[in-house]
Order: sequence, then structure tokens, then C-alpha cells
Amino acid sequence: MIKLRTEEEISLLRENAQMVSKTLAEVGRHIAPGITTKELDVIAEKYIRGMGAEPGFLGYGGFPYTLCISVNDTVVHGFPSDYKLKEGDIVSVDCGTRYRGYYGDSAYTFAVGRISEEDRALLEATKTSLYRGIGKAVPGGRVGDIGDAVQSYVESLGYSVVRELVGHGIGANMHESPEVPNYGRKGHGVKLREGMVICIEPMVNAGVKDVYLADNGWGVLTADGRKSAHFELTVAIRRPVPEVLSTFEYIEKNQQ
Ligand code: MG
Ligand code: MG
Repeated sequence: MIKLRTEEEISLLRENAQMVSKTLAEVGRHIAPGITTKELDVIAEKYIRGMGAEPGFLGYGGFPYTLCISVNDTVVHGFPSDYKLKEGDIVSVDCGTRYRGYYGDSAYTFAVGRISEEDRALLEATKTSLYRGIGKAVPGGRVGDIGDAVQSYVESLGYSVVRELVGHGIGANMHESPEVPNYGRKGHGVKLREGMVICIEPMVNAGVKDVYLADNGWGVLTADGRKSAHFELTVAIRRPVPEVLSTFEYIEKNQQ
């Protein structure tokens, strides 16, 4: 069942989305060569609790950390660890909150120090594909319109889209209906209606689309070992245009 949200629910989801966005910016301020991904996890947990919220991922389906931190060829669901970030890495940080019974969920892929032109282009393309998808999140459209917008853009640049993981509705549960794949066909899939709130989250690989599961049962890695990027925003479907509840503004303000 796909829920249509009341104004009150949308404002609770907006509060969560804003807290996640600010947490990602706080994590981003600390991303530099030498910091471990576990240290970033501790920073995020303290920051979320400091706002009176709870980490949305911690314990979710047994996930043992506040953040999913996925470096280079890890697509998503990486465990924070003692790995020290180094110059030239790209690091995807996925963050969730739970506050007043609702969830927030967003992700951003950061550059560690100076990165190659090739990696910079992958990040830009993935982020742009997310905004292209958001542009199709309008009442009367279809979930397949979003997937098609993401897929056709990234494939036109020679990248590939992960099939095994998809975006989703969000509300009093982190993952709700509908599924929002990053591939699809225009005019197909669930019809989008005003009041639906969804997370759009392209996972884009520099090489092949295929992935495999890490030995810990969580991490998802690219089959060819090439890099992968992940950007996610929470979007309320409204008229006349979608309202993007989370934002990268806090992150990107720090990068200027
Ligand atoms: Mg997420
Ligand atoms: Mg998500």
C-alpha cells in the first residue's frame, strides 16, 4: 500500500530530512586524508543525538552503525571501519535519522582531497542524474519516468546503473512502497500521486553494472572493482513542482 502524507506528516519528514542533511554536512567537514571511517560514524551519531533524534540505521535490520560508509568500489552499505581515508578516494556516506516516529534518509559521495578528473565526472553525473529523476517526480507521472530519466542520462555518458538496490517510499518506516528503481521505462510502473514521499537514490558505477555482496553480508561492491557513486534525496510529490525535503546545500556551502 502506498501512503499519501498529510501536511503534518510531510513536516515531520521534512524535519528528519533536514537533520540528515545537516549531519551529512557535519561528516563532510571532517572528511580528509587520515581520518578513519569509524571516526566519522562516531561524529554522526553524536551529532544526531545532539539534535534529539536517533540514528535511523543503527539496529535497522541488524545494521550495526549510524552511517553506511562506502569507499571507492563499495557501492552502498559499507561498514565504518579502521580504514583511513586517503587522498584520491571517493566516499559515499548514507545517513538516516528517526525523530518523532518518522525517518530521514539521504546520501552524498564526497571527494577525499584531490581526486582524478575521471572520478570527479562520475560524481557530477550521478548527482545530475538524481536531479533529473527528481524532475520527473510529479503527480500523474510514473515511477518508470524517474528510472528512465536517471538511466538514460548516466548510460549516455558510458556509466551503468545498479539494479539490485533501489529508492523507496519513506514515512514511519525507512523503506516503504513504492520501490523507485534507477532504471525503467517511461510511462510504466506505479503512478505518482500528490502526497507521496519517496527517496530517489541513483547508484552509478564507472564500469559494469554488476555487483557482489561482501563477506560480512552487507557491503555491496562493483564486480569489476571500479568506482561507484551514490546520491540520495527525499522528495515530496506536490503541485506544481516536487518539494525536495533534504538538501545538499549545507554540504556544498562548506566546500566553497
Ligand atoms: Mg539512504
Ligand atoms: Mg534510501
